[in-house]
Amino acid sequence: MSQKLCKNKKCQRPLPEGYKYKYCEHCRSERAQQIKRAGKAALGVVVMVGGTAVTVLTKGKINPNKK
Ligand SMILES: [Zn+2]
Repeated sequence: MSQKLCKNKKCQRPLPEGYKYKYCEHCRSERAQQIKRAGKAALGVVVMVGGTAVTVLTKGKINPNKK
């Protein structure tokens, strides 16, 4: 039986016996926050790019100055 350690090389806290994750609670919550932040940032980019694309599309399609 070997003591499991957190996979984070900077952390390496001993994990409780039977712990089902490779990272300790601390690292897991930190990772979750990073993913949340990255997700929000990615979503912001998608919304920005999507909004621009929609604007470009509508400008191209709905052009009141068509002659
Ligand atoms: Zn850890």
